[in-house]
Amino acid sequence: MTETEQFDLRIEGLNVYYGRIHALNDVSMTVPEGQIVTLVGANGAGKSTLLMTLAGVLKAKSGSLTFGGQPLPDAPHRVLAGGVSLVPERRRLYANLTVRENLMMGAHLQTKMSVIREDMERMMNLFPIIRERVKQYAGTLSGGEQQMVAVARGLMSRPKLLLMDEPSLGLAPLIVRQVFETISGLKEQGITVLLAEQNAMNSLEIADYAYVLETGRVALEGTGRQLLEDERVKEAYLGIQKKSVEQ
Ligand code: ATP
Repeated sequence: MTETEQFDLRIEGLNVYYGRIHALNDVSMTVPEGQIVTLVGANGAGKSTLLMTLAGVLKAKSGSLTFGGQPLPDAPHRVLAGGVSLVPERRRLYANLTVRENLMMGAHLQTKMSVIREDMERMMNLFPIIRERVKQYAGTLSGGEQQMVAVARGLMSRPKLLLMDEPSLGLAPLIVRQVFETISGLKEQGITVLLAEQNAMNSLEIADYAYVLETGRVALEGTGRQLLEDERVKEAYLGIQKKSVEQ
């Protein structure tokens, strides 16, 4: 790893297929260490496919994936051991396990119980609601609380890079705002974030850099601010129509 490379994630010429469906088509992007990079796109654009490929769940047909200058492993447990953790779409908590047990799942590579206890305490300080709910079954929590547990579970492996798939999905507007504040807070703690979202407005507001995916290809890229001001993004993703000349 060179000094300038640090723990940047680099994706070059990535192609992923489901059978004959070409889900990611020659995708290239960079997630620099310490930044929040957002992936905006409609349903089916390929956001989850990209995150699951990075997490080692799906196999790439071609392309190069490196993290900190080293090839990203292609098995989920090795990706996790390498410092990359996925917070999957729709949280995927074990509803009939307690919050504590769900958090333990995130620490399954950690062998020292003292470290797990320390990390659990850290999570309860980061998300005070988890302290209140730690003995409850995860399925009894509200959607927003479950999202916090999913993020905490992702953090239990002490990742350098957190991949987040649609964390605001199905949440009430007030809770959505809290989720995005939480993500901004992760950056303050030095965690790099790659965030896939259909909620373009909120996710671009917190993004250092962003990519728009359309049917498996990168259609646009720029800083969060540049994309928020881009006419195509406004029309297609922010629901803002161009004013007609007659108006
Ligand atoms: P969403 O927000 O709905 O999850 P997305 O941007 O994450 O959308 P993907 O789920 O990555 O999009 O889907 C990309 C493309 O791959 C779509 O055309 C989708 O229909 C297809 N696809 C996804 N999963 C599968 C699968 N298991 N088998 C076949 N095709 C799939």
